[in-house]
Amino acid sequence: MPLEAGLLEILACPACHAPIKEQEAELICTGQDCGLAYPVRDGIPVLLVDEARRPA
Ligand SMILES: [Zn+2]
Repeated sequence: MPLEAGLLEILACPACHAPIKEQEAELICTGQDCGLAYPVRDGIPVLLVDEARRPA
C-alpha cells in the first residue's frame, strides 16, 4: 500500500528532524549521523524512536 502522496514531504525524523524517505516498506531517516529506519504498519508510518530500527 503506497503512502499518501505528499505525506513524506511533511514527515521528519523525530530524533534529528531530518527528512525521511520511503524504502522497502520502511521510512529511512536521511540524517547523516542518524539513519534510523521506522516501520510502516497497515500503511501508517510509526515515527517513534523506540520503534525504530538502528542502522547496521
Ligand atoms: Zn534521524
